[in-house]
Amino acid sequence: MGETVRVGVVGWPVKHSRSPIIFDHWFKAYGIDARYDRIEVKPEEGERFFADLAASNLAGINVTMPHKAIAARYALLDPAGTRLKAINTLWRDGDRMAGTSSDGSGFLKSLDAQAADWRRDGPALILGAGGAAVSVADALAAAGVRVRIANRTHEKAAALAAIVGAEAVAWEDLPAAMEDTTLLVNATSLGMHGSAPLDLPLDPLPAAATVADLVYYPLETPLLRDARARKLVAVDGLGMLLYQATVGFERWFGIEPTVDDALRRAVLATM
Ligand code: NAP
Repeated sequence: MGETVRVGVVGWPVKHSRSPIIFDHWFKAYGIDARYDRIEVKPEEGERFFADLAASNLAGINVTMPHKAIAARYALLDPAGTRLKAINTLWRDGDRMAGTSSDGSGFLKSLDAQAADWRRDGPALILGAGGAAVSVADALAAAGVRVRIANRTHEKAAALAAIVGAEAVAWEDLPAAMEDTTLLVNATSLGMHGSAPLDLPLDPLPAAATVADLVYYPLETPLLRDARARKLVAVDGLGMLLYQATVGFERWFGIEPTVDDALRRAVLATM
């Protein structure tokens, strides 16, 4: 018998991570002898951990707060990792570790799965300029989509727009900007359990627009409910969470795993 392959998620804190549920589901589905651990690494221990990672017995890892930028300094980076200078997925490449940021590509895969016709001629409008918005803006821009960004704190929208080659839109100008928007993305925390809902009438959007929410708890946010009521295509945030995980699995085990209803139910059962 071969040895159990070790992978996991590195962060601080990391107890709340749902990644083990996702990977355990795929290990069973594909009959893989592996274990996916939550690996606590304190902020001050990050530098040492990533410097020593290639010599460890880990086949690969996911990375979460606060180590994404440190991880990028110790890995061979793919184009997304190079642009973002922060990574969440590492794998072995010869005697080194290589890495990428899979949130943006996970978001695009989720759009393809839940809104096959999301690519239209009009621009995408991203609400928010935090960590999630950075990944999504970068992936959309790299995929050739025209991107607009609006954020409560406008300077952050302007800074992100300058980095990815997008246009910053003032929050109060949203209704006008929505008129030709074909993809609206909520990358703020509004709508999340315990937060206020995003208060944005969807009337100005074209009838063929897609509305995506990165918030996945609750799965059906007030924004998505509103979009469905208007017969717009709605894309939930759980898809991004699951598809970003496929990137590591494929690198570590050579199989692109399926995101199916059984997996969605397994993760939703933990919320
Ligand atoms: P973050 O870095 O803390 O950014 C939060 C964003 O929300 C900022 O743009 C912030 O605007 C905005 N915001 C917060 N409260 C607001 C309010 N009252 N009115 C208007 N804007 C407000 O968080 P993040 O990591 O980007 O995460 C954002 C959301 O995406 C969270 O709900 C998170 O759960 C979700 N997410 C989902 C996935 C997934 O896989 N589906 C992955 C990552 C994140 P200011 O800049 O003005 O503060």
